[in-house]
Amino acid sequence: MVSTTQKDDATWYRCEECGLLFDSQTDAEMHEENCDSDDDTPSYLQ
Ligand SMILES: [Zn+2]
Repeated sequence: MVSTTQKDDATWYRCEECGLLFDSQTDAEMHEENCDSDDDTPSYLQ
C-alpha cells in the first residue's frame, strides 16, 4: 500500500513495502507494483 506523509509542507507518498518516498502518488503506485520487497516471504525464512 502507498501511504501519505506530510513533510516540509508537502505531501509525500511512501511505499509501505520498502519505505521509499515519492513526490507523486502515481510514481509511488507504479513503484509499488514493481517493488522487489520480500514481504511475501514468511518471516521465519528471513
Ligand atoms: Zn517499495
